Amino acid sequence: MLAGAVSLNEVREILNNYQIAPRKRWGQNFLVDRNILTRIADVSEISAEDYVVEIGPGVGSLTGYLAPKCKGLLAIEIDHGLKPVLESLQNELPNMRILFADVLKIRLEESLQEAFGLEKPPFFKVCANIPYNITSPIIFKLLEECPRLQKATLMMQKEVALRAVAEPGSNDYGLLSISCAYYARLDYQMTVSRNCFYPRPEVDSSVINITPHQHKILLADENKFKEFIRFAFQHRRKTMLNICASFFKTDKTELQNRLTSLGIGPKQRPENLGLQDFARLVNYFVREG
Ligand code: SAH
Repeated sequence: MLAGAVSLNEVREILNNYQIAPRKRWGQNFLVDRNILTRIADVSEISAEDYVVEIGPGVGSLTGYLAPKCKGLLAIEIDHGLKPVLESLQNELPNMRILFADVLKIRLEESLQEAFGLEKPPFFKVCANIPYNITSPIIFKLLEECPRLQKATLMMQKEVALRAVAEPGSNDYGLLSISCAYYARLDYQMTVSRNCFYPRPEVDSSVINITPHQHKILLADENKFKEFIRFAFQHRRKTMLNICASFFKTDKTELQNRLTSLGIGPKQRPENLGLQDFARLVNYFVREG
């Protein structure tokens, strides 16, 4: 058995030995279920050629399962109080590096390059049980700032995962789903009970795989597109006719025909439109001026 605290008793013992109290403000709920840890490591599809980033290793429960599978693992942890635990784990995992930093404040690809002394930033995967209060910022940091990201396996609050993977027409479908769909393919992997953590959180969790698209859908104006979908979902009870009329400041009679010719029902609501529909719509208005 490799390093890492994995059962409830082991995690408790580590926290006790090192006199560490889990910190709520940093979302510290540690995984204590071997079966789940094995499954997360499996679905991440990490192999011996891969560089891996783990965001928020905590006391290293997942780290012990990931490091032996990959070429190099960089663990990024905000809590300096975990230093003694992580450093002792590092003694057993020679390909592990630790960076104490706020993941939202660093340049991820450059940090990885530096940690392993590489000539240029490498392609990499992410596998992590992330701090739930910063789930969206982490997802968008990975998708917007990391062109070399190959795949991210992320554990998050179940409700957020359901919103991220939702398809048009479902109640969970919204800004998060469509923004994720623009950058990546999302695959729901598993639900994880709150009983698999210590301390036990108030919510259940889910693991999803995020695989960035090689070729993103073509947008005539990415900023306009983002502005429009944000606006549309702020008014998700309104019809597309009303939404477009106020956003693009156009006359409704003419607009009705335009929407129909774009294959969008004027009475449809934003939650019925897919990424392609939104793209076609905004591209049309951007090009027509
Ligand atoms: N992966 C571990 C711990 C999950 S708890 C496990 O599954 O057991 C979330 C972890 O993220 C904690 O260790 C917390 O200290 C860390 N964390 C919280 N905010 C962070 C941030 N902004 N940057 C890096 N790590 C952070």
